[in-house]
Amino acid sequence: MKPVKMTGLLLLLCLLLTQAGCAARPQMQTSVLVVFAMDTSMTLTIYEKDAEGLLSDCEQLIIQMNRLLNAHAQRSETYALSQSNGEPVVLSAAFAEVLAQALYASELTGGAFDLTIYPLVSLWGFPSDEYRVPTAAELAAALPLVDYTQLQFNEAECTAVLPPGMRVDLGGIAKGYTGDLLYDTLQAAGVAALLDLGGGIVLVGQKPDKTPWRIAVRDPLNTSKHVGVLSLEEGFVQTSGAYERYFEGEDGVVYHHILDPKTGYPSEGDLASVTVIGRQGALCDALSTAFFVLGLEESVRLWRTLEGFELVLVTKNGDVYITEGIRDRFTPTDNYTDTNVSVLTRSVP
Ligand code: AMP
Ligand code: MG
Repeated sequence: MKPVKMTGLLLLLCLLLTQAGCAARPQMQTSVLVVFAMDTSMTLTIYEKDAEGLLSDCEQLIIQMNRLLNAHAQRSETYALSQSNGEPVVLSAAFAEVLAQALYASELTGGAFDLTIYPLVSLWGFPSDEYRVPTAAELAAALPLVDYTQLQFNEAECTAVLPPGMRVDLGGIAKGYTGDLLYDTLQAAGVAALLDLGGGIVLVGQKPDKTPWRIAVRDPLNTSKHVGVLSLEEGFVQTSGAYERYFEGEDGVVYHHILDPKTGYPSEGDLASVTVIGRQGALCDALSTAFFVLGLEESVRLWRTLEGFELVLVTKNGDVYITEGIRDRFTPTDNYTDTNVSVLTRSVP
């Protein structure tokens, strides 16, 4: 996979790096690299000129994590565990670390995020892009194979046993975890950076002009628009939405890629998108997927038990909910000033 190098060229994509009206400011020096990995295009922007060496380190890290975590690439450790047929598997320390976090997220969300979702994901044809609607019988056969509590994992010894037929899918946490590693690398190098990992944004340090990072939140119901802009310090912003990957079945119904482990079908909750803001990329990622499955009410209930995360939730009827920690950091965009924005508080009103 050959990355496209675009050093010095600032790609805007859906990110508002600068705001209208800022044109008078001196332009910031940046180095930019676009990498295609994990089924998406990633744009890495470092706020320094000539940061090619560091960008190349980031690229290597992404390629390495892609190799480790890709559920259907035959040389990945994820694949090896899925093919182990109930035999104990010795894991690399790097893989064991991701697995530990995925298992923690599965437990934390009561299985709304389930790291053993692959048999279902595969039935719907998402890994192969050969989309199809499975039969009820196929789904009934696959559902018992999706149960993270069946994974025996010994973190201290880096070993795991996965019952025969079960398969692991770390697609809902891989980018966030990779984001954590990239953050550590760039933070250690002392640079400011904005990484768009496709659904996940990593903000490192402070922009040279000392203004907050500005991240637009896409309107999941009209993806060419943004419901609002977040002004943030460094950290992670992870979004899950049905619009990211879907297909239309022969029955005319649109099916998306976030599956409800309880039913085997694309989740039918009341949320159109979930954005999680926090300091741990892997958890933000897994939580964004889980909250999407859980829906508004259960997500808010779970959020109230957690420390260190803020949310922007957009419902299927276009209402926006933000958590109180970002009350002053979220500004609706011009077209959305009439949108119903409710603030969710930690204490139950
Ligand atoms: P994300 O875009 O982070 O929400 O992750 C979506 C990806 O996670 C999908 O493409 C699947 O590979 C995987 N996935 C789908 N549903 C679930 C689920 N309920 N739990 C864990 N992973 C899931
Ligand atoms: Mg996710």
